[in-house]
Amino acid sequence: VGGKLKAAAEVGAGTADAAENRILVFVRLRPMSRKEKEAGSRSCVKIVNKKEVYLTEYASENDYLRLKRVRGRHFCFDSAFPDSTTQAEIYNTSTADLVEGVLQGRNGTVFCYGATGAGKTYTMLGTMENPGVMVLAIKDLFSKVRQRSYDGNHSIQLSYLEIYNETVRDLLSPGRPLHLREDKQVTVAAGLTQYRAYSTDEVMKLLQQGNKNRTTEPTRVNETSSRSHAILQVIVEYRFMDGVNIVTRVGKLSLIDLAGSERALATDQRTQRSIEGANINRSLLALSNCVNALVEGKKHIPYRNSKLTQLLKDSLGGSCNTVMIANISPSNLTFGETQNTLHWADRAKEIKTKALTTTNEEVLNVPDSETDQAKLLLELQKE
Ligand code: ADP
Ligand code: MG
Repeated sequence: VGGKLKAAAEVGAGTADAAENRILVFVRLRPMSRKEKEAGSRSCVKIVNKKEVYLTEYASENDYLRLKRVRGRHFCFDSAFPDSTTQAEIYNTSTADLVEGVLQGRNGTVFCYGATGAGKTYTMLGTMENPGVMVLAIKDLFSKVRQRSYDGNHSIQLSYLEIYNETVRDLLSPGRPLHLREDKQVTVAAGLTQYRAYSTDEVMKLLQQGNKNRTTEPTRVNETSSRSHAILQVIVEYRFMDGVNIVTRVGKLSLIDLAGSERALATDQRTQRSIEGANINRSLLALSNCVNALVEGKKHIPYRNSKLTQLLKDSLGGSCNTVMIANISPSNLTFGETQNTLHWADRAKEIKTKALTTTNEEVLNVPDSETDQAKLLLELQKE
């Protein structure tokens, strides 16, 4: 009881401190697949009270007989979505607020974490019939921008890139690898295509095409790689008149479909080294190390250890709204992966992000007469 009370007091202290924000962590359970059913698998996950995930501790029927009773472990998250959850519900709970923030000039990041087959790409990209977070976010942006463009001008630019084997590639215009360049607080991929989008319809096609450009592994010819990270960046620029000034406000939304987590789950140093030696997803490992360093409140966060963490430097633990969606399968056949994903997500809950006191705003021009102001206003409306 004492432990519980202490934990509650600590949670209270955390929320009372207005200077710090927590990363939001959600879990999405996908339906059992036909393949899993045919393999005779049983569900080992239950979602309770919209927030709790209950993982039964036995992994197989044999274990169950041996243990003679059901034991389990509870995890609690900001939301836990059962397998009946729609794409729209996922979008509204996880990302809609971030989109609103981006329009106000605050950066936001959503990433999907989980084993291969757990539902990351379904959540992020989705299908033509059931578009995912990436498409719904852009649709929402377009409709919000349309409602607000009476007082200024918005532009929406998209870029879509992949990190595979520590190589960064443009998914909208495949070609030579891109170099990363440090630019003030952010890292940018030099030469990355910035696609100016005008409607939602073109976006799904564009992203699906982009996804086809993701690196496939030689052994799984028809599948997009489970070892590549796909990052969609949406940059919204808003130019408006504020009194006599023209102000440009820029917000960036990053939507990230991470590589499968199944091979980067080592927690002790020795296994980590052997994984690195085997060249297994350095970026995912580096992300875990950054999460650990952030949780432990370390001064030095090892962002420079991989391409992914370099790119996410301004999106993790910084002044950014961050959401993590952990994807899991219900099947007891992937019990170990699910357990690891839930542990990782549980840990990520502890990351603090700084309060958002400043927005990315720049006053571009100060007209000194009313005619200048009128001219600028005309210019804005023309674009
Ligand atoms: P990952 O990207 O994590 O490897 P996918 O998103 O490709 O996994 O999902 C694996 C399979 O499960 C796909 O066929 C996908 O369409 C299906 N799937 C995943 N999540 C859901 C869901 N919530 N509802 C219906 N089908 C899903
Ligand atoms: Mg995928």
